[in-house]
Amino acid sequence: MSRPDRIGLLCMVSGPTASGKTTVCRKARDLEDCAYSISCTTRAPREGEQNGIDYHFLTKEEFMHRAIHGDFLEWAQVHGNCYGTLKSEVVAFLEAGRDVIMDIDIQGAQLIRASEDPFIRNALVDVFILPPSMEEIKNRLSGRGTETDDQMRLRLYNALEEMKHWREYRYAIVSDTPERDLERFRSILHCERLRSCRMRTPAGLIGDIPAPDLSDDLITAEQAELF
Ligand code: 5GP
Repeated sequence: MSRPDRIGLLCMVSGPTASGKTTVCRKARDLEDCAYSISCTTRAPREGEQNGIDYHFLTKEEFMHRAIHGDFLEWAQVHGNCYGTLKSEVVAFLEAGRDVIMDIDIQGAQLIRASEDPFIRNALVDVFILPPSMEEIKNRLSGRGTETDDQMRLRLYNALEEMKHWREYRYAIVSDTPERDLERFRSILHCERLRSCRMRTPAGLIGDIPAPDLSDDLITAEQAELF
């Protein structure tokens, strides 16, 4: 495989429940040809969710086994269940210059930000998606109809707690229509791909050119004006 021009972005996307972040992440993955990190979770699958596509659904024992084995880049307890990012879903893609999008809660984002691995730190981009209002979260959650009343209360409480952390993220998107959210998210990816810190020197710029003679008479009149 040829050497990529740059390392991939590790784009962490957080936001409270029903903020629309999953839709943004998945649409951006398809349109921007990014990899999407499929997390492991101990939560039960929702209707329509598929193992290995939405999540790797694990038992608590399987999850802990993988955690002890060092398979996770990070893991955390969220809404009473465990969620974790597998190293295997991320590192090889970044090295190959492929961008990775991950849906992650604020604890997981804090753990990855605190990573001492310079490769991971250099790849990081973080985006927080804020809902337009708490009312809208309630509407979206009850419309989804996948949570019990108790689970809804816990998710709403956690939403308020999570939103206290939005300024820890370099970028914030206040959710509007799915199209507008996606457009803004894609523009973040486009800018971040141009950051010099992640680029390799273009091959065409490396050459063996002899040092110039800098004596005065070689400086043209136009160049002299610049001094
Ligand atoms: P849900 O159960 O609604 O799919 O996700 C609940 C929360 O878990 C969301 O806030 C989501 O961002 C977070 N989450 C999903 N995958 C991961 C992960 O791999 N690590 C961490 N720390 N949080 C995750």
